[in-house]
Amino acid sequence: MLIVLHHSATAKDVAQIKKTITRMGLKPVAIPGAERTAIGVIGNKGWIDEAPLKDNKAIQEIIHVTKPYKLVSRDFHPADTVVTLGKKIAVGGKSPFLLIAGPCAVESREQMMRTAKFLKKIGVPVLRGGAYKPRTSPHSFQGLREGGLELLNDVRKETGLLVVTEVVSPEHVGIVSKNVDILQVGARNMQNFDLLNEVGRTKKPVILKRGLSATVEEWLASAEYILLGGNPNVVLCERGIRTFETATRNTADLAVIPLVKALSHLPVIFDPSHATGKRKLVGPMALASVVVGSHGVMIEAHPEPEHALSDGPQSLHFKELEKVKDQLDRLVGYAKKNL
Ligand code: PEP
Ligand code: MN
Repeated sequence: MLIVLHHSATAKDVAQIKKTITRMGLKPVAIPGAERTAIGVIGNKGWIDEAPLKDNKAIQEIIHVTKPYKLVSRDFHPADTVVTLGKKIAVGGKSPFLLIAGPCAVESREQMMRTAKFLKKIGVPVLRGGAYKPRTSPHSFQGLREGGLELLNDVRKETGLLVVTEVVSPEHVGIVSKNVDILQVGARNMQNFDLLNEVGRTKKPVILKRGLSATVEEWLASAEYILLGGNPNVVLCERGIRTFETATRNTADLAVIPLVKALSHLPVIFDPSHATGKRKLVGPMALASVVVGSHGVMIEAHPEPEHALSDGPQSLHFKELEKVKDQLDRLVGYAKKNL
């Protein structure tokens, strides 16, 4: 439920209404706006009886929100959320377009240091690399796990780059949080609710990937778990969905970027690597995401993609990454002025 107050409502009115809501066994969330204040109500399992609020003169309108998410919706939070990464980088709203790059999996110190140095050289601020790899086949490389986290921590200390890695189980949230700057919840775990609850208990920024076959509503409801747990620092990431088409690894659903930006205040980025599965398509799709309003991209790149232990065919060579970065920089500059 969303309670919209009159322009003339005072702080005392707000306090009074919040008290009534608390007495109804629910939780009020004040949403101050430039024009007027609204109060969101959470904690209900079904329809809320508005009788205790009906006669309050400060209330202009009561809107019953039937969506399965509230805290992530624009109704509850009209302004864009800007998520801070580390001390200096931000994503969302009018923040600079965010670039994240790196290999699918952490394989060795040499591989990560080579990648990190190259990212620094071309001005990519965030390094990615999976330590725990959720692979379709148990015979595929499963990641260096704790050893990979250690490497990521060393690399971030040595280079000053921010580091993001996937966390696959609730028990690992603590150790992963200690070693990296940004958590990633992968497509396969988008509805791992214990995991969502656990990352909701931290204050770490979380990149929440869209599930392989998740609807937008399910994706936003998953983000709601994290916000409801107390962590507002969620960045949504479209990474392609499963369709009948097999010519690409997944089908890049770029329409959801403007759609989700209308439904939610959270930043939305795009992963053209998993969305296409093909190196040649990564650059063009990364560029396309700028045009539809993405707040950033996450791109897989590897010093020797031919020898990568996972996702080599979709990983860019460093030279290709540099070229895409250059094209993105120019397109983002154009988009800022003209779109
Ligand atoms: C990844 O980013 O390495 C990954 C496994 O992605 P997704 O969860 O989108 O498949
Ligand atoms: Mn990958």
